[in-house]
Amino acid sequence: MYELPRLSYDYNALGKYISKDIMLLHHDKHHQAYVDKLNAALDTHPDLKKESLDGLLRSVNTLPDDVRIAVRNNGGGHYNHSLFWEWMSPDGGGEPSGKLADQLVEKYGDFQSFVDEFTAKALAVFGSGWVWLQPDLSIITTPNQDTPLMLGQPEPLLGLDVWEHAYYLDYKNKRDDYVQAWWNVVNWNFVQSRLDSQTSVK
Ligand code: MN
Repeated sequence: MYELPRLSYDYNALGKYISKDIMLLHHDKHHQAYVDKLNAALDTHPDLKKESLDGLLRSVNTLPDDVRIAVRNNGGGHYNHSLFWEWMSPDGGGEPSGKLADQLVEKYGDFQSFVDEFTAKALAVFGSGWVWLQPDLSIITTPNQDTPLMLGQPEPLLGLDVWEHAYYLDYKNKRDDYVQAWWNVVNWNFVQSRLDSQTSVK
């Protein structure tokens, strides 16, 4: 059975950028619902419980018809949100350093140009979806709760939830204000650790 992961910080820790009200709604209600619906779907296919979540998502297109959409939406939702909480930190923001910073500058010219391109893609997502920084430092988007794994891509280094449920309470319809605020809480240490681990696997 999948479980809702605990936050590694308080619900109010992201302060003025992401409010306690949003964190409570987003984590305790939305993420919990993905977990509950994923578990309910797998109860109808106990054979799939042996698979890792990664494995289920990578092979989602070959799952049986009666469980595929539920795993896609709720398994994707659980995977994406489990990472999303870790991609934010009360100690986040600023700029990355070390190898990650060097590689971003090499690809985008400077850090702000990377931020601008990621932000532009976040604002261009029509409806609900996510924006991702991939290990090759490309920026991609997915609709709904789809993950890069479903596209045959490696695990993302960084992702941003641009569903309205992620910001509506604080920012109403102003996604651009939410994205600008979010950069102040990005946990670059976690992004760097993901780059390091992916590099070491190669
Ligand atoms: Mn969300």
